[in-house]
Amino acid sequence: MKFSKPLCDLPLQSPRGSLHVLIVGSGAVGLSCALWLLKTGHRVTVFDPNPPLEDIDYRGACSFGNACSIAYGAVTPVAMPGILKDVPSMLTNPLAHLSIQWRNFPELIPWLLQFIRSSKSERVLEIVNELADLMRLAEAGIAPLLQESGSQHLIRNRECLYLYKSEEKYQQAQYGLQLRASQGVRMETLNAAQIYEREPHLTPVYHKGVLFLDAYSLESPHVYMKNLAKSILQRGGQFVRQQVDEIVLGDDHVQLRVHGMLGECADQVVVAAGAWSKKLLYADDQVLLNTERGYHVMFPDSGKLLTTPTCYPEHGFYMTPMMDGIRAAGTVELGGLGAAPNLKRIEVIEKATRQLIQGLGHSSDTWLGHRPSMPDSLPVIGQSPHSKRIIYAFGHGHLGLTLAGITGRLVAEIAGGHTLSKNINALRPHRF
Ligand SMILES: Cc1cc2nc3c(=O)[nH]c(=O)nc-3n(C[C@H](O)[C@H](O)[C@H](O)COP(=O)(O)OP(=O)(O)OC[C@H]3O[C@@H](n4cnc5c(N)ncnc54)[C@H](O)[C@@H]3O)c2cc1C
Repeated sequence: MKFSKPLCDLPLQSPRGSLHVLIVGSGAVGLSCALWLLKTGHRVTVFDPNPPLEDIDYRGACSFGNACSIAYGAVTPVAMPGILKDVPSMLTNPLAHLSIQWRNFPELIPWLLQFIRSSKSERVLEIVNELADLMRLAEAGIAPLLQESGSQHLIRNRECLYLYKSEEKYQQAQYGLQLRASQGVRMETLNAAQIYEREPHLTPVYHKGVLFLDAYSLESPHVYMKNLAKSILQRGGQFVRQQVDEIVLGDDHVQLRVHGMLGECADQVVVAAGAWSKKLLYADDQVLLNTERGYHVMFPDSGKLLTTPTCYPEHGFYMTPMMDGIRAAGTVELGGLGAAPNLKRIEVIEKATRQLIQGLGHSSDTWLGHRPSMPDSLPVIGQSPHSKRIIYAFGHGHLGLTLAGITGRLVAEIAGGHTLSKNINALRPHRF
């Protein structure tokens, strides 16, 4: 049985009639919210200085350069039991696949404390339940958007492969794999011969593999984002190329302040500005959002060397074949929003990829992206405690491409006053 669960169609009219909704941010989450809102009869204006429209540089958005994986099965949080013992190496080794930059340490402390609290076994079980619940609805959230935006041809690989170099590494992964299995995630174990048969260009440093049967990848997340933006325009949605400074609430409306000027009055606002969303919180709303920086390196001539998106968890990055070649993407660096890329980390990813795939050609594009991350690996989806006119939708961490569609649908349900497809209490903004 497939991991995904169907949802009934959302009515074209919402119980609250047609609303004007302002959306801040045109990453995967903002665009998915915009399209779902348009599909359910609302008027939408998206604010972003750099939306994914023709010729605009979209590289600043995390949705530009991710590992392209629709990762059904990724229902375990980043903070798993035992993470505490990794904190010293996170602090002392800036090249570890999970690392913390010292200059960010003081401001990171509240986030780190909750991160560590979230790693307790009983809390991990709650998070896994919640993530799995959301993940089972993810296909019902993204499939209508892939279809409407003409992006179904971007679906490339069904399945995704995790590899382990030794029996010890495989055994260490069992706790997480069993948690996934307990939620009905479909997996198949492969031995070294089966891995070789599937992927003959991988250097045979693997011992065993696990194939996630319901995952798939997209040929290019950037092209998907461009397609979503085109569909939004086709449905009458508008883009405003401006950075929003502030949300201003009136008695019966909401407005955005841009360059000191107040904009049009609207019924609702959705904050979907990814890792930058904290700056836009209303009044004294508090959210423990931080950023996990991640990188990618492209190998443009090597696309034929791999068929399945592949990850060695110990290296912390995916190798995904896509339309532009192979993309090696991942690792986690708790390093804040402003700092320059750490070029040494890019070198580490490139070197490791060369060790893992034989005959890899030259590398080209490299990229730093900012994941919007909550300490418990659950996104924020819900209204501000101050006002139902303000909806927060950010903090999707490692799963923003996968969960953007269902987030968009839930946001359309909240805004329009529909019955929610899922209880979102665990995702409320002020849960910490
Ligand atoms: C290396 C790496 C690999 C990844 N791999 C995967 C994967 O395989 N699968 C998966 O599901 N997820 C993956 N992710 C995570 C995923 O990319 C993110 O969770 C997702 O892109 C976040 O989308 P978003 O819309 O919240 O934010 P973003 O894509 O960052 O978009 C935020 C937008 O808000 C705009 N903005 C910011 N401030 C303002 C403002 N004040 N006013 C107006 N606009 C503003 C920005 O310009 C930006 O366009 C990966 C991430 C990284 C870094």
